Amino acid sequence: MIEITSKCTGCSRCVPVCPFGAIHVADKKAVVGEACTLCGACVQVCALEAIEISRPEASADLSAWKGLWVFVETAPVLKPGKGGHLEITDAKTLKPVTHELLSAGRKLADELGQELCAVLVGDQVEGFVDELASYGADKVYLVQDEALKDYNTDLYAMVVIGLIAKHKPNIVLYPATYVGRDLAPRIAAEIHAGLTADCTGLSIKDGLLLQTRPAFGGNIMADILCPNMRPQMATVRPNVLRKDEPQPLKKAALVRETPKIDKNVARVKTLEKRITAVHGEKKIDQANVIVSGGRGVKTKDKFKVLEELADLLGGAVGASRAAVDMGLKPKTQQVGQSGTTVMPRLYLACGISGAIQHIVGMRASDVIVAINKDPNAPIFSVAKYAIVGDLHDILPRLAAGLKEKKK
Ligand SMILES: Cc1cc2nc3c(=O)[nH]c(=O)nc-3n(C[C@H](O)[C@H](O)[C@H](O)COP(=O)(O)OP(=O)(O)OC[C@H]3O[C@@H](n4cnc5c(N)ncnc54)[C@H](O)[C@@H]3O)c2cc1C
Repeated sequence: MIEITSKCTGCSRCVPVCPFGAIHVADKKAVVGEACTLCGACVQVCALEAIEISRPEASADLSAWKGLWVFVETAPVLKPGKGGHLEITDAKTLKPVTHELLSAGRKLADELGQELCAVLVGDQVEGFVDELASYGADKVYLVQDEALKDYNTDLYAMVVIGLIAKHKPNIVLYPATYVGRDLAPRIAAEIHAGLTADCTGLSIKDGLLLQTRPAFGGNIMADILCPNMRPQMATVRPNVLRKDEPQPLKKAALVRETPKIDKNVARVKTLEKRITAVHGEKKIDQANVIVSGGRGVKTKDKFKVLEELADLLGGAVGASRAAVDMGLKPKTQQVGQSGTTVMPRLYLACGISGAIQHIVGMRASDVIVAINKDPNAPIFSVAKYAIVGDLHDILPRLAAGLKEKKK
């Protein structure tokens, strides 16, 4: 319910910001019409705090909440520019985590007997509808507006909250990326829904979304259910869920939504877009091969053989948190719970003990090879091939062998 209190002076600041055109001023007081979705955009701009929203408990009728939604994240396409630096283009691509969420969402939606829907917000993004369908979406909610060209917390939250209020999804999944981690909590707080961040597993239990994530520093896995509120919401990191092969012939129903977007609601303005240089390090999140080093590598200089191996294998160099804390590699290369989750075809762990916080970030790799001088190192419990020995002796020989093969 929305209430305009006696503090209202009829200044009309709330009128243009309502995306649904639900507010007008009469007799020096704001009046809210039936089109209101309780999105809260008006509350944000009212300097007199004269607007109060109380949302009905979702538990009143949970059966009205249906469908599993995936928030779609796009990313600009980069091209090589001057001096070997990358430049941002106007073209966009779907972030691979969207494919992963849709693939997992498809199975969950089937188990629930509900629709899988993609929520596509942006400017000139309609071209992605078929791709979303090919990864399983039955329906795509499309909101296109020039003001939504770049991600903006206030505008995107307002749009998604409006869609949730109108269509009542049972579950909403977001990527645990910079965007998803910013957007999902904002929405959860606004609509009083629960949110489980950084899930490592999702399944259905008694008709509810079972959300699994590490807790207590990664030492236990917690299973979380949200029985009383809707939608049930979770974020999942890239490379945690496996994506399915796309089905190019599958089609999705397109639902165009046209909320009125007032740029004035946005409290953050994009002044400039820049790519942060990773100091020549190849990114680990999409690498097929990762040669990762831990405290056992000992020095920056000794990491060079790992870099050489990664080059020979066409891969990237990763690191444990201990190696990052020692300043041997930048934080961008850290694998694990407080770093990046990776899923390469080959993960070579060198001088890494295998603490649970490291393992949760790499155990989904296809083939894990571990080199450690301690035969009881826990890393061997997840490794397909275990090499017990001194990495400073083994790695140069491995590199020399690969070079020889390449001749
Ligand atoms: C909340 C929280 C979040 C965390 N997040 C992360 C994370 O994201 N990623 C992460 O990695 N850690 C994380 N950690 C830290 C984690 O608990 C471990 O401390 C860390 O992973 C240890 O790194 P390491 O294996 O390189 O070092 P160590 O545990 O010290 O292991 C070094 C290994 O190198 C071997 N070794 C030494 N010399 C040689 C040699 N010459 N040849 C072969 N082997 C050798 C040793 O036998 C040993 O097994 C986190 C911890 C907490 C509490």
